[in-house]
Parts: sequence; C-alpha cells; structure tokens
Amino acid sequence: MATIVQYTDAHPAHNGYPARIISPTRSSPCCFSSMEPVGGPQQEGRWMYQYKRCRTCGYAVRVVGREIPDTALLADFVSAERPRLLACPAPYIT
Ligand SMILES: [Zn+2]
Repeated sequence: MATIVQYTDAHPAHNGYPARIISPTRSSPCCFSSMEPVGGPQQEGRWMYQYKRCRTCGYAVRVVGREIPDTALLADFVSAERPRLLACPAPYIT
C-alpha cells in the first residue's frame, strides 16, 4: 500500500494533498487533539483508508479503516449454507 506522506525533518510540513504531504518524522502532544481528515475516504484493493493531518504541526498519517467484504466469498458461503439451514426442522410451537 503506497503512501503520499513523506516523513522528513529537512523540509517544513506541507499539505500538497492529493500529490504529496510533507510531515515531520515524529508526532507531538498537539497531535492528540488537532488531527483532522485530509481529503475523503480512499479505497485500495479491499481496504478503505483516509489521511489525517495535525492542524498545528503538520504530522500526517494514513488511517486504515475497514475491510470491504469479499462479495464473491460471501455469495459462496450463503449458497453453501442455505441447503443446511433449510434442512433444519422448524421449532415446535404450542
Ligand atoms: Zn501535531
């Protein structure tokens, strides 16, 4: 998974999203409360991610979110389970 964040202390922090984000190499105490999303959610393969950047010092990270379900795998699972589920006896209700 490639990233657009370049970590360096040789250049000042810069938000060049979506091409490149220059970030300090280390986070600072300000990052705990000043991180904000940069751009929208992105998809690579079956993963969703989003860049976040500190408003104060410019420290940036890519936050990997959820995995997108494999619909083909789910379809196989459902079709394999359906006959077994239908074979279960209905509960006896009085
Ligand atoms: Zn910060």
